[in-house]
Amino acid sequence: GDEREVLTYDLFGTAARELAQQVADDGFEPDLILSIARGGLFLGGALGYALDVKNLFVMNVEFYTGVDERLDLPVVLPPTLDAVDLTGANVLVADDVADTGRTLELVRDFCAGYVSAVRTAVVYEKSRSLVTCDYVWRRTDAWIDFPWSSQPPVRTRSARPAH
Ligand code: 5GP
Repeated sequence: GDEREVLTYDLFGTAARELAQQVADDGFEPDLILSIARGGLFLGGALGYALDVKNLFVMNVEFYTGVDERLDLPVVLPPTLDAVDLTGANVLVADDVADTGRTLELVRDFCAGYVSAVRTAVVYEKSRSLVTCDYVWRRTDAWIDFPWSSQPPVRTRSARPAH
């Protein structure tokens, strides 16, 4: 549809605190938080403070190219995460939204071979998501405007190779 779900920075702060409370109430004690960049960095950082976890990791995954426009498959972009960092850990994966759920599925499966436990936290989960997240703030099927991407970049850059 055409309707949008609008998340403000103010509401995001509430969402992050409430998600952290869900994790704490559940008794889950992550050794590290793995954010899915870029959209999951904000929640990962906020959960890091709220849950007193300083061990933050990032996985770069690209799937969406526009509003509801996707690549065929989510792809992991360099630099790739060193699996040694994950071995035996309780991992909390943080992302903005589980939409199709394919990004989270990719990251969860990547972790599954190494970690002791992996759980997922998202601000939003859509009904079509093939991954059922452990910690969810709100459910919607609308396109979500996140505060960090609701405005165009202040400048655009031409594509250049990763380094
Ligand atoms: P999925 O793999 O679950 O389909 O979605 C992967 C990523 O696509 C999300 O982490 C998010 O960055 C982006 N995405 C999916 N749905 C939305 C949406 O409704 N709004 C925005 N802004 N991004 C979305």
